[in-house]
Amino acid sequence: MGELHVLLELQQVDLKLDKLQETLKKLPVFEEFKKLKEQAGTAKEALAQAEAKLQAKLKAIRSLEGQLQLAEDEHKEVLARLYGDSEQSAKELEKLERRAAALKSQQQKEEEQLLMAMEGAEELTKVVNIAKSEYNSVYQKLREKQKSGNEEISRLKEESFHYSEQRQLLSRQVAKPLLEEYNAQRQKFQGRPLAQVEKDICLGCRVSVSSMLKVKLNHPDCKINCENCGRILVPYHLE
Ligand SMILES: [Zn+2]
Repeated sequence: MGELHVLLELQQVDLKLDKLQETLKKLPVFEEFKKLKEQAGTAKEALAQAEAKLQAKLKAIRSLEGQLQLAEDEHKEVLARLYGDSEQSAKELEKLERRAAALKSQQQKEEEQLLMAMEGAEELTKVVNIAKSEYNSVYQKLREKQKSGNEEISRLKEESFHYSEQRQLLSRQVAKPLLEEYNAQRQKFQGRPLAQVEKDICLGCRVSVSSMLKVKLNHPDCKINCENCGRILVPYHLE
């Protein structure tokens, strides 16, 4: 196989490598993963907030229970003194009765507060559970996306590696100056600095080659550039 035909094969490999690089760069999984990561962050924050609110509510309940217990104890004590055997003056009895009544109403008020706080805690527990399942579901999706994304990326990288090896193998079969010219011209011709000739037409620019070039094209390994577009022309393949 002539050097230019090897180079043409190299061009095909390079085009595949370019396409793979482009695919890797634009993989939708990156954007999807980023979005899920943001969602997981928001869900985690919501869960932490709900848990903090629930903890605060539970703390308030414990404190109310303590207050209520104190009021109950004192109420019992006052009643014992009020109905006990010890002799008390009318004034003292009146004072004790007032205290007992005050404690009773305080107890009722605190019981109501406690009931409301418990209802609040129940609601907050529901909120926490919803936030927890929301976070778990997003987190699960994130892990799955990471797994499938990694698989896709490593598949594409393996493919790239395969073509890179082919590229090295082919490069070694092309003389350095020609390889350098090809590499330098790749960008200018969108990765196709080499053009085949078919029915005396340069397939790079679709312009007919001159009869002088036609003669030269019959000699393999004779490097000719298209007179119109400048691409390196690949001679007719002589079997
Ligand atoms: Zn041309």
